[in-house]
Amino acid sequence: MASIHIIPVHILDRKILTPLSKEISHQFGLQTSIYNIEFDVSFAYDPFRNQYHSTKLISGIRNLIDSPSNKYLAVTELDLFIPILTYVFGEAQLNGPVSIVSTKRLQPEFYGLPWDENVALDRLKKEAVHELGHTFGLHHCPDFQCVLHSSTYVEEIDFKLVTLCENCLLTLKKNMLL
Ligand SMILES: [Zn+2]
Ligand SMILES: [Zn+2]
Repeated sequence: MASIHIIPVHILDRKILTPLSKEISHQFGLQTSIYNIEFDVSFAYDPFRNQYHSTKLISGIRNLIDSPSNKYLAVTELDLFIPILTYVFGEAQLNGPVSIVSTKRLQPEFYGLPWDENVALDRLKKEAVHELGHTFGLHHCPDFQCVLHSSTYVEEIDFKLVTLCENCLLTLKKNMLL
């Protein structure tokens, strides 16, 4: 049985990793642990955008992991982008081992609102389950409340649940048996 590894990448607030790990383990029914690696992110930095290219970070991490049958989720405070978008909350290799999620734009203070640990953690859990869902071969879901629904704004994340809808859960179970 595969297991899930959370890789902290430029993350100062490490205490979020424990509740995150528990939630992921619960949603996927798999053992989840924190996996520490040395990883220099400078190659993915874009000085014009002052952001990090998430696809490059994913391939960099892919080169460092030893067991591609497991799933890996990098968690970072860095601001992420892909060239066609202003920013992304995260990215994943569909059916692949590596995904990444950023806490940067999940924080209420990013939008000039008061700091709220619970709101940020709640959003992080959802985006983490979302990106990991892609690594298990799940596509975006039309159900607004399903965690696999695509979110552009935090309000859409807040509207979603941390769980997979019935259809996505069935697909997940099928894919896990492959
Ligand atoms: Zn997605
Ligand atoms: Zn769904």
